[in-house]
Amino acid sequence: MRQPLVAGNWKMHGSRVENASLVSALLDLVQPEKRAEIMVCPPFPYLLETGRLLKDSGIALGAQSVCAEAQGAFTGEVSAAMLKDAGCAYVLVGHSERRQLYGESADLVAGKLMAAQSHGLVPVLCVGETLEEREGGQTLNVVSRQLEAVLSVSGVGSLAKAVIAYEPVWAIGTGRTASSEQAQEVHATIRAKVAGLDATIGGSVRILYGGSVKASNARELFAMPDIDGGLVGGASLKADEFARICAGAG
Ligand code: PEP
Repeated sequence: MRQPLVAGNWKMHGSRVENASLVSALLDLVQPEKRAEIMVCPPFPYLLETGRLLKDSGIALGAQSVCAEAQGAFTGEVSAAMLKDAGCAYVLVGHSERRQLYGESADLVAGKLMAAQSHGLVPVLCVGETLEEREGGQTLNVVSRQLEAVLSVSGVGSLAKAVIAYEPVWAIGTGRTASSEQAQEVHATIRAKVAGLDATIGGSVRILYGGSVKASNARELFAMPDIDGGLVGGASLKADEFARICAGAG
């Protein structure tokens, strides 16, 4: 039995005042229940304060990125140990905005995943194809390759304590969502791929869908057999919308 997870990626949005009002509204609206786990990823400077606001709420804290190195002269980077110290339970790795805008390679993503796990953080490994790749019929190959590239470094065992997020790049922040059938096809392929390496991990690893998830499409997406919740960007900044998405997973 896989517990659904709904994660909010706040990206580079917010301020102390805006975050306080978002969290306060979330605490009123979101019902952290046994069925679905909920997590939010604020920008680095707001992790500690958001963690304090969420204390004892049952909503978990995550970060949007992590350095693959443990410590040292890496100006501008934040280590896994620091994220753990700040109260994070999760961290996103391989988000398409990091891969595309900051040139993060598969090797670097694997390094980040392992750094996160070595400090007890649960990495959320993001994979997904571009529009060109989908239109070229390459979706399943691309996603399988992205997964293999990380697993060849970190090993399938690393997925025992990780979450995968399938995020078609063409659906992120565009308002275009993959249909539940399109998403399910990719999720089933990912699960089969992992199960081919380790049946137990294949059956237990949570695979989230991300890409313009809204209250109006969440329930249908989350009802698919291999979709175990969502990674939500824009809609996680609106408390009522995010709360309705969370309810759709519960
Ligand atoms: C994301 O940031 O991972 C994401 C899926 O964004 P959005 O929900 O805005 O498409």
